[in-house]
Amino acid sequence: MKVVSTIKEVRDAVREWRKEGLTVGFVPTMGYLHEGHKSLIDKAVEENDRVVVSIFVNPTQFGPNEDLESYPRDLERDSSLCSDSGVNVIFTPQREEMYPEGFCTSINMTGLTENLCGKSRPVHFGGVCTVVTKLFNIVAPDKAYFGQKDAQQLAIIKRMVSDLNLNIEVVGCPIIREEDGLAKSSRNTYLSKEERRAAVILSKSLKLGLEAINSGERNSRNIIELIKGNIESEKLAKIDYVQIVDLLSMKDVETIEKPVLVAIAVYIGKTRLIDNFIFEI
Ligand code: AMP
Repeated sequence: MKVVSTIKEVRDAVREWRKEGLTVGFVPTMGYLHEGHKSLIDKAVEENDRVVVSIFVNPTQFGPNEDLESYPRDLERDSSLCSDSGVNVIFTPQREEMYPEGFCTSINMTGLTENLCGKSRPVHFGGVCTVVTKLFNIVAPDKAYFGQKDAQQLAIIKRMVSDLNLNIEVVGCPIIREEDGLAKSSRNTYLSKEERRAAVILSKSLKLGLEAINSGERNSRNIIELIKGNIESEKLAKIDYVQIVDLLSMKDVETIEKPVLVAIAVYIGKTRLIDNFIFEI
């Protein structure tokens, strides 16, 4: 496995593989890899001849008061996870490699980006779309792997690939959880012991919502109230949003008649955590 930091090195490697007629899978990440990332990597290794993983804490997707500086980093541990998993190239660029002086282009998507996380993180998805497009152009993979954990991001990337006719298959992968149900996240490392215990309220509350839907409830407001009530029973939790949206448009639905995403964002102390489930009717 090679660890490279320039665009040229990635392109050179991919060019050689292409000469041999090999397929290329790609997993974009911000590093501090855990079993959630590993599930994407494993699928990419299974489905492609060669795999590139990018590790880049992308500054343009962080707002001014967010955790860009404190975001956890551990390239050594990430490298051994990738190497053990059969990754061929890790691309870990410096900021200047991705955003050289004078950089002034961005991808702007409306609609899908405006609800849910887009409301409390207004610059986030513009930054995600821009960096993912750049990475897609650098790696030029056949398939790219994204987690359902970031469901809105997955919907946005799928839409962007379709809208811009990018020749890449986007593969969505299920949420990997801790034993108690907490969705794995690099940000879980911010939680104190007490907060970590409290954080289980996200998945527990979603489970209640799912049970209500499974027993026939179709009124979004009732399900949202049920989920909110449960989250509020945890004193360390503060709700950012609890919403039920159409799976494709990310627009709120009043009554569940088509596949929906039930998505929540909750602060546990200062740490903002997200979780969700899809209900296919
Ligand atoms: P990040 O490093 O947080 O940008 O995540 C990189 C990729 O891993 C994204 O496509 C995430 O959706 C995915 N991912 C993160 N956590 C999980 C998880 N618990 N289960 C599945 N995929 C995940």
